[in-house]
Amino acid sequence: MNTKLKIGSLTYEVDILPFIRDDEGHEALGRCDTDKLNIIISQDTNIPTPRILLHEVIHAIDYEYGLELVESQVRILANALYQVINDNDDFFE
Ligand SMILES: [Zn+2]
Repeated sequence: MNTKLKIGSLTYEVDILPFIRDDEGHEALGRCDTDKLNIIISQDTNIPTPRILLHEVIHAIDYEYGLELVESQVRILANALYQVINDNDDFFE
């Protein structure tokens, strides 16, 4: 798997790891660190990796373009985009 992901002008390192925690110490599905430029995806979930990755990519886009999205907006955008891409694979091959 390619571990480099270019988002805007920045290149993120992507890793899939066990036991991801957020800043408050809660278990998390993914993390996007815009200082270290890395995205971490949990391997301990049945949620598809691309779906979690898309969520973290939207966090990175939010940072890159200064959108100031809140978490619920990131969640809705990621889930909606994932659904459109997944249910219309003729257009997104
Ligand atoms: Zn999030």
